[in-house]
Amino acid sequence: MRKYFLALAVVAALLCSPAVSKAQGTVKKKFIDPANMDLSVKPGDNFYLYANGTWIKNTPIPSSKTRWGSFDALSEESSLALKGLLEDAAKAPGDNPLMKRVGDFYSSAMDSMAIEKLGYKPIKQYLNDIEFLSSKAEVLKYMNFLRAQSISSPLYRIGVGQDAKDVTKYIISIGQGGTTLPDRDYYLKNDARYQKIRTDYTQYMVTLFKLCGENEAKAMMNAIIVMQLETTIAQAQMSRVEMRDPKKLYNKFSVDGLTENTPNLNWQNILPELGYKTKPDSLIVSNPKFLVYIDSLLAKVSLPDWKTYLKWGVMRDAAPFLSSPFVDANFAYNQSLSGQKEQTPRWQRMSGLIDRQLGDLLGQLYVDKYFNHDAKVRMLELVHNLESAFESRIKKLDWMSEETKPRALAKLHAFTEKIGFPDKWKNYAGLEIKADDFLGNLRRCNQWAYEENINKLGKPIDKTEWGMTPSTVNAYYSALKNEIVFPAGILRFPFFDFNADDAINYGGIGAVIGHEMTHGFDDQGRQFDAVGNLQDWWNKSDADEFKKRADEVVEQYNGYVILDTLHVNGKLTLGENLADLGGLSIAYEAFKNTKQGKSNKKIDGFTPDQRFFLNWSQVWRNNILPEAAAQRIVTDSHAPGVHRSNGPLTNIDAFYKAFDVKPGDPMYKAPELRTRIW
Ligand SMILES: [Zn+2]
Repeated sequence: MRKYFLALAVVAALLCSPAVSKAQGTVKKKFIDPANMDLSVKPGDNFYLYANGTWIKNTPIPSSKTRWGSFDALSEESSLALKGLLEDAAKAPGDNPLMKRVGDFYSSAMDSMAIEKLGYKPIKQYLNDIEFLSSKAEVLKYMNFLRAQSISSPLYRIGVGQDAKDVTKYIISIGQGGTTLPDRDYYLKNDARYQKIRTDYTQYMVTLFKLCGENEAKAMMNAIIVMQLETTIAQAQMSRVEMRDPKKLYNKFSVDGLTENTPNLNWQNILPELGYKTKPDSLIVSNPKFLVYIDSLLAKVSLPDWKTYLKWGVMRDAAPFLSSPFVDANFAYNQSLSGQKEQTPRWQRMSGLIDRQLGDLLGQLYVDKYFNHDAKVRMLELVHNLESAFESRIKKLDWMSEETKPRALAKLHAFTEKIGFPDKWKNYAGLEIKADDFLGNLRRCNQWAYEENINKLGKPIDKTEWGMTPSTVNAYYSALKNEIVFPAGILRFPFFDFNADDAINYGGIGAVIGHEMTHGFDDQGRQFDAVGNLQDWWNKSDADEFKKRADEVVEQYNGYVILDTLHVNGKLTLGENLADLGGLSIAYEAFKNTKQGKSNKKIDGFTPDQRFFLNWSQVWRNNILPEAAAQRIVTDSHAPGVHRSNGPLTNIDAFYKAFDVKPGDPMYKAPELRTRIW
């Protein structure tokens, strides 16, 4: 996600790969392979281990990864596919303008000799400029310049997105920001793990300041200044759980009204400095207290300290793309956070970068080579079957009144589905890519995207845009567009396979489709109506019944412990856990409408229902480094794989029947204690 995208755009992805191969395989594949399972574990003891135990035991995490599982293996395939496409494009004769642009970007990115020679030259000018700023007014102005040039985004985030209360219009949104570590907890909590990471982060800053010409003592002083300032900023940030409340994030101000609250930040001046051409009637601030706090900091913190802070932002944002001493220091810092043993190879970092920057160009090449268009037809069919199953479940709900039900159904029927790749590709008009100017290409791409974003203001909503590139192994729901989106990259086994039986496809991509649909009805999504506006359509008693059930899910996941003392944050992961439970329930119902769902015919020793649940669990299998697991538990709105597998199952009656789970089994929950929502 690019940095100017904002907290207000409520988008829920399946996770925090090339597509279906065009060649149909002739070898018969075992979609449920007992060799991956651990048949010594009883399904009711730990279904995840029963379904995946041998795979988990025998599958190491590659040294350049922090996690390895079904998603990661497909992402690796996507990455290799992009590499092949980029290498071909770089060698191509140049008569195809699309290939020339991605090929030239890749050539420039892989020319490490040229990048080594530059050292920190690409950012030197900015660092010099900052050194000569002589007042806080100049600091503020330069901050805006850095942001408008997409060099660095200090203090807060700002960008254009749909207005959550009138989704037919774009509006400027301002969100909290200003820190480097992954979450405010990293600054504010005092256990040993955070202390070590803060020490490593300080060392990272020292290294970068030294690489940019400071002596050891000055570099250390600078690092301490930045750490203190960022810690102060972190104190004013809302927590991730608070940020899950869309009403709380919607605070509308006029430009002058906002300036009254933040006298040191004059938005009348700031907006034109950021490139906004007309004065808007209003803007949205997700955390007004944060801006007021930043405003007071501007007065309190000294001019030299602000300059140090600005310099750090410039260095930090450029470090992963500069010469190897910068890249190595950046890796050491990431290593401290995630435990990753070896640096990701350059080709892979650069393929990912180009996919993020020029996704609609590289995506076209990807889709041409790897996407089987029949998959789109089959997916549409699955989506419609899931929709029918969801509809019949809503009609049968015993906790929702007949008054609210038609509104729920209206929302369900208003879903837009996007499958595979965008109908309309961006052409990046005016963006210049040179074969020998990596940093320049990167800057121009960021700049192009920045301007594309701010120029949306006043224009009609572009409904064709995608928030993920075609090769991405993921899916998402957008509340403001009321749309569910499935990139080509996820339409592969274990999610989807043309040759697989329905149990596999419904337990895989079917549950993913159901998951994205349920996001429209999770604790956040349910607050948006059929067109995407943040507008309540619930009777109070229905809302209370929903909350009661959602609270049970919060409790359930709070009870899951990883790494001794760390436990899943039930409130942070609520939306995803609701989506998993709803998604799996709906997919199961849709599966039962198929021919295989109605039969009892075993395949490879398993009944249709067993295969459905086994594939669901197979999707979530992974091995993860403890450091990465600890980071995700704080920052990821998704629960760890084992709990994504097992959590919903404990609430689904059919699971108990399929595997004969009985009272006394660790996964057993009495029928009256099972949470049933969608
Ligand atoms: Zn999700």
